[in-house]
Amino acid sequence: MGSVEHKNMPRLVMKFGGTSVGDVERIRRVARLVAAERQSGRGIAVVVSAMSGETNRLVDLAQQAGQGLPPELFDDEYDVVVATGEQVTTGLLALALRGMGIPARSWQGWQIRVASSSTHGSARISDIDADEVAAAIDAGEVAVIPGFQGVTEEDRITTLGRGGSDTSAVAVAAALKAERCDIYTDVDGVYTTDPRLVPKAQRLEKISYEEMLEMASLGAKVLQTRSVELAMAKRVPVRVLSSFVEPGEANPGTLVCDEDEIVEKQIVSGIAYSRDEAKLSLKGLQDNPGVAADIFGRLAEANINVDMIVQAPSRTEGAVNMTFTVPEREADRALALMSAAQQQIGFEQVEVKKDVSKVSVIGVGMRSHVGVARVMFDALSRKGINIENIATSEIKISVLIDSSYTELAVRALHTAYGLDAA
Ligand code: ADP
Ligand code: ASP
Ligand code: MG
Repeated sequence: MGSVEHKNMPRLVMKFGGTSVGDVERIRRVARLVAAERQSGRGIAVVVSAMSGETNRLVDLAQQAGQGLPPELFDDEYDVVVATGEQVTTGLLALALRGMGIPARSWQGWQIRVASSSTHGSARISDIDADEVAAAIDAGEVAVIPGFQGVTEEDRITTLGRGGSDTSAVAVAAALKAERCDIYTDVDGVYTTDPRLVPKAQRLEKISYEEMLEMASLGAKVLQTRSVELAMAKRVPVRVLSSFVEPGEANPGTLVCDEDEIVEKQIVSGIAYSRDEAKLSLKGLQDNPGVAADIFGRLAEANINVDMIVQAPSRTEGAVNMTFTVPEREADRALALMSAAQQQIGFEQVEVKKDVSKVSVIGVGMRSHVGVARVMFDALSRKGINIENIATSEIKISVLIDSSYTELAVRALHTAYGLDAA
């Protein structure tokens, strides 16, 4: 990514999410937090989200206006509409900063050139040309940058997928060689699990990139998964902290950093859950080489992400049952795809179940400890929760359960791994 050498002033990126900029009063508080950091001698880029609720409103408008249109006639203009939410916030914050006597200006994605792929609705940043913004920052001006936005080679506006402002912030931090990327949000850090679900959840002082990546991709929406990937790849230290404080108040947050920087490694650091899951089962599937390649090849071609694959013997002689999960919103498409290819693939029956959740325990300490899975299975069985699928990696164990038990399972596991606050 294009980057600029430091002159002498350290640079900091501060990102504020939707709730944190939800009204003008909150935007003023953001301006005070920015002013305080600037006062400490740092060059500041601020990345902002749309005001809370705004992106949903814009998505809804686009869907109404474009009802029935195929993706090739819809997706690019959808991005034009939804990217405006962030533009509004940049202007408002620049105004609030100027009102405090602080030089500031907004920079839209196309003005900086936050270059992205052309996958509308879920574009990836490919390069940020930071020279001009960096010069302005080094001259003392606060740069206010919209999250979520990119621009294609053909000068078309793109958006980075829901929650994408986190990724914009990390990408800007990498391009500016910032000393850190501070993600201000409506909780005061990364917790052992979603604090809205489990009041006994505890704030983590530090979490490794790898654990944070698992937490995010397994459902903790506090950071967009892609932002953690990028931070890890570019070695950008990320801090998650509260925007609901005044300058000077204690606000340690959570540092997302290298594993080596964490002295006391927990066996399990956190628990994540996702209700956005559906389970497909192919029953009586012929047991021949190439069958799995055929099934998952078809799903991959249709851009459907598959997770948690289990194959087991079927009651039918010489056949197997294949079960796998897909995001819930893709379930109907996956089902249609499988049904249409029933003859070619060769199975008796396909079933889909949508009311399932994935609950995962995550921790780098698992690498060197045995018995972690057993604690999980014991805790779930004591609550009478049936496990429908299991997936493991070196640092996580995920189970698929009936979604009505999600809360119960997360709470039980939080207690079983000793994570409850005193
Ligand atoms: P923003 O609008 O600032 O981007 P988000 O709503 O995207 O904020 O993310 C913050 C939310 O993430 C919190 O309100 C919290 O409910 C949720 N969350 C889920 N899991 C966790 C976790 N492990 N730690 C902290 N927050 C979590
Ligand atoms: N405003 C966008 C969303 O709501 C991006 C973001 O806030 O991160 O998804
Ligand atoms: Mg977010």
